[in-house]
Amino acid sequence: MATNFIPYGRQTIDQDDIDAVVSALTSSHLTQGPKVTAFEQAIANKVKAAHAVAVNSATSALHLACLALGVTQDDWVWTSPNTFIASANCARYCGANVDFVDIDPDTYNLCPKQLANKLAQAKQQNRLPKVVIPVHFAGQSCDMKAIHELSQEYGFYIIEDASHAIGGRYQDSYIGDCRYSDICVFSFHPVKIITTGEGGMATTQSARHAKHMRTHAQQGTSKDAEDLITQPGDWYYEQHTLGFNYRMTELQAALGLSQLNKLDDFIAKRHTAFAYYLETLKKLPITLPAQATDSNSALHLFPILIPKEHKKARKAIFDALRSAGIGTQVHYIPVHTQPYYQDLGFDWGDFPIAEDYYQRTMSLPLFYEITRSEQERVVSILTQALQEHGVLS
Ligand SMILES: *Cc1c(COP(=O)(O)O)cnc(C)c1O
Repeated sequence: MATNFIPYGRQTIDQDDIDAVVSALTSSHLTQGPKVTAFEQAIANKVKAAHAVAVNSATSALHLACLALGVTQDDWVWTSPNTFIASANCARYCGANVDFVDIDPDTYNLCPKQLANKLAQAKQQNRLPKVVIPVHFAGQSCDMKAIHELSQEYGFYIIEDASHAIGGRYQDSYIGDCRYSDICVFSFHPVKIITTGEGGMATTQSARHAKHMRTHAQQGTSKDAEDLITQPGDWYYEQHTLGFNYRMTELQAALGLSQLNKLDDFIAKRHTAFAYYLETLKKLPITLPAQATDSNSALHLFPILIPKEHKKARKAIFDALRSAGIGTQVHYIPVHTQPYYQDLGFDWGDFPIAEDYYQRTMSLPLFYEITRSEQERVVSILTQALQEHGVLS
């Protein structure tokens, strides 16, 4: 790989972040202490949620969210095929059946019209979902108002997978306020908008859901007086249910708090870099990511599409970028085509819009510290690759 390799995404860690982690490391708590509580409160304040529960990954948060909403083996959970596998796996952890709703061809998000059609059919077959998990792909909110209206009509819960979308807005409020959902989940994996190394957070307006998730993140135990059958002393806790160890550490929370200070700046810079790509790439025969007017994306990704008639050239163009040191990546392999999901009965052809999108897409490097000259290099190498492979004459 070239030494001046430009990845598709990369974290930004400054001296404040380092100092924050070092100070947590020398404090009295290394895990589940005051920094975790402070980080939860800071996220809740930022997105205007009543409750926030910090855990060790977004995958854990999605699992806890499904459990809090009572998902069991008798239930169906629906999500988008154009997502990371975790959005579907969380339902499988509960033993539930998974199904998918194809995407909108412009936003690449779960399509509310397809959702409406599928719900009408599922109602006749008595197979309505208990939970729908819309994924805010690339940081742009799904059409939550429409999805929420359907949830009122058909009676399902909503978990927003906002792993890409912290700091993004929908209709002038931050994603995570759960105005149109029950629970919202963020990821702090290094490639996402802000990082804690590994980490995740669930926000909700429901005290009951928050409590359920918190209990299940710590082995199903509680020390709250209201939950205890007896109270022999201060050492005492009770386990009433089977939970997990999904705790976040103080080191992670300290890093998260420090990163959160920079969130708006991170996103503003992504918008500047995004605008540069839009402007310089608009003359090329590729599809650029469309931005909805009722939202302000966190801009996690910059996915481009090769024209349908040149879809076979995608691999060669991808390889050309990679060998020139441009760390392009494909987001996402449709979840239903994974061998695990094929074993559950899905196949190629089931969700044609997500599949067509997958065959034509690649994401260009987009992160806080990308420089103008790095972006120029991406544009010039992409242009050259499109020429060499007959997409641009
Ligand atoms: C990254 C990601 C996850 C999982 O996040 P982790 O924190 O790595 O568990 C879930 N859903 C989507 C859409 C993601 O991109």
